[in-house]
Formats: sequence, C-alpha cells, structure tokens
Amino acid sequence: MKKIFSTCPLCSCDIATQLWKASCSEQASHFLSPLVNRDKYEKLKDHIQYLQKTSFVSLNKCAECGFIYSFPNFSGDKKFYDLIFSDTNKYPQNRWEFIKSLEIIEKSKVKNPKILEIGSGDGAFIRKLVKKRITTKNSITAIEYSIFGKSKIKKYGIECLSIDIKDNKNKLPHKEYDFICLFQVLEHLDNIHKLVDRLKGLLSKNGELLIAVPNDKIIEFNELNGALLDMPPNHIGRWSKNTFIKYCDINNINLVEHKVEPFSLKNFLLMFFSYRFLRKAQKQNSIAAYIKYKSNKNIVAFFTIIFIILDFLLSPKILLKIIFSVAKLGGETQLARISKVCNN
Ligand SMILES: [Zn+2]
Repeated sequence: MKKIFSTCPLCSCDIATQLWKASCSEQASHFLSPLVNRDKYEKLKDHIQYLQKTSFVSLNKCAECGFIYSFPNFSGDKKFYDLIFSDTNKYPQNRWEFIKSLEIIEKSKVKNPKILEIGSGDGAFIRKLVKKRITTKNSITAIEYSIFGKSKIKKYGIECLSIDIKDNKNKLPHKEYDFICLFQVLEHLDNIHKLVDRLKGLLSKNGELLIAVPNDKIIEFNELNGALLDMPPNHIGRWSKNTFIKYCDINNINLVEHKVEPFSLKNFLLMFFSYRFLRKAQKQNSIAAYIKYKSNKNIVAFFTIIFIILDFLLSPKILLKIIFSVAKLGGETQLARISKVCNN
C-alpha cells in the first residue's frame, strides 16, 4: 500500500497508508442520490468541497498508532446534516450500548447521578434512565442539534441544549457530571483532544465517560466486500481498542473497560446485504439504482428483497467468508468506559 504524508489527529505522526480515496461527487452521492434530487445533490457536493477545501478526501491509516481517519479531517456541520437527513429520520430505540451503560450506571451506586448525554437523538436513552429510576429528570442534560430530537426531549421535561461542547464559554446546568455519554458520536468529531480536555473538566472526581462507536472490524469487512464505505464527512475517525488506549495515554485518563457487542448472524446478514444493495445503488446505471429510485413505490420493497436474496445466493465466496470469519469480528458496536482517575 502507498505510504503518504498526512498528520494523524490522534498521535500527530506524519506517515500513513491510504486505504481509499473519494471525490466530492462520490462523497455526495453516498449520502444523496442525484436521481432523487439533483439540486440538493449539487448543493451537498459543493458544501462538502467547501468544508474540506479539496475535491478529494482520503481515508488513511496512521503508521504509528493505527488510527484510521479522513484526510482532511473535518467533521460535517449543521448544514451538512440538514442536507442529508430528512424529517422522517428514525432514531433507534434499543441499542446494545444503552443496556450496557444502564447496567454500569446502576452498579455505580451513585445516588441520583448527574448525566450528560452528547448527541441524544430523540432521547431514547434518557427515557430509559428515567423509567428505570436510575436518576431524576433534573439531573440529566442533553445536547442535541436536530430540531425534531430537541423538541421531543424538551417535551419529556429534560434540559436540552444545542451547543458545541468543545466551546468553554457555554454554560451547562450542572458544574460536574458523574457520567458523560457519547453514543455513536465520537466517530463524527474532529478536534478529539480539545473535546476530551473539555469533558475531563466536566467530570466529577470519580466520573466516567461512556463512549460507543461502530466496530472497526465490521466496517473493514463491509468495505472490503462490496458493502457501503464508511464515508466522510459523516464518520471521520475509526476507533479500535488500541486507539482508545492511545487516546487515554495521551490525555492522561484511564480506559477502565472495552467491550464489543456480541455477534448476531441475523443482524449481520440484514445489515451486510442491505449495505451491499445500497452500495450498488450508488452507481446511477445499475439495476439496484433502477429498483431503488425509478421503480413504482409499491414494488420497491418487493424487488429490493428479491435483489438481496439473489445477491446472497450468487455470492458463494462471501458466504464462505461470513461462515468462517465474521463471527469473530463481533457485533456492530464497541463501548469504551473511561475514568478520570486510575482506580488500580
Ligand atoms: Zn497516529
């Protein structure tokens, strides 16, 4: 693989290998097909170019610490997410990291723990905290940008702010938090050291960060086997147990625990083959694109299922890989539990 010069956002090493690169048009069509809305697609393409200041992005793996990052390393802003998400965007209500984090917070025996969740979606995790009586509503602070999510959280009676957490000037309702949760958020963010510096300042003495990110091994399998690429500027950093260790070392914090979601064959097959379909549909002249964007609304689902079943049956090499290697990769998510102080 080609060695190139680029600076790692995690360890600052200047040498990396390039995994792949994409043009702004390829990036834009990953999120929004020009077949659906040409105008919006063009706007998105221009905006991505404006954010990155180059017409290509590359995905690099640091030669020193192994962190995989987009270069240039810029996160998507509000305008980017407004363009790619529709109002009907659905937030998952049950995730593995919710269950694990509820257990961790419950076991901590802190009375009415103060909890800050960054990127709360529509408040699915927060509602579980309240329903299970783990803490009270006024001990919870949510940070969420989407108007739909924010209004749902506020209606539920929880303080919800739309602020950049890295900005020190922003005042939060509580001075310190016992748990700060970032579920499927860190992989979207740039300036990762500034972020953790601010979070350290917001943690109570025995406080912990609970950080869930996608399982890097599953993403790698997807990318190498014809499923969706993990496209910037949505995800711009790919984390692993080793890079979490490095992150904690550099920032003088302590990785208490690192867990990977258990593997589920049913979930894997559903995710993998629908991601293969979506990857194929990104090519404008493909059968998949025709099914997804040009066929009658009533028959889209039917033909999509037929396409996925045929793809499944006609990919014996991939099926063998799945049978022999995929279960070892684990499920879709990894959870890092990080404390400010070293307890051992
Ligand atoms: Zn590095």
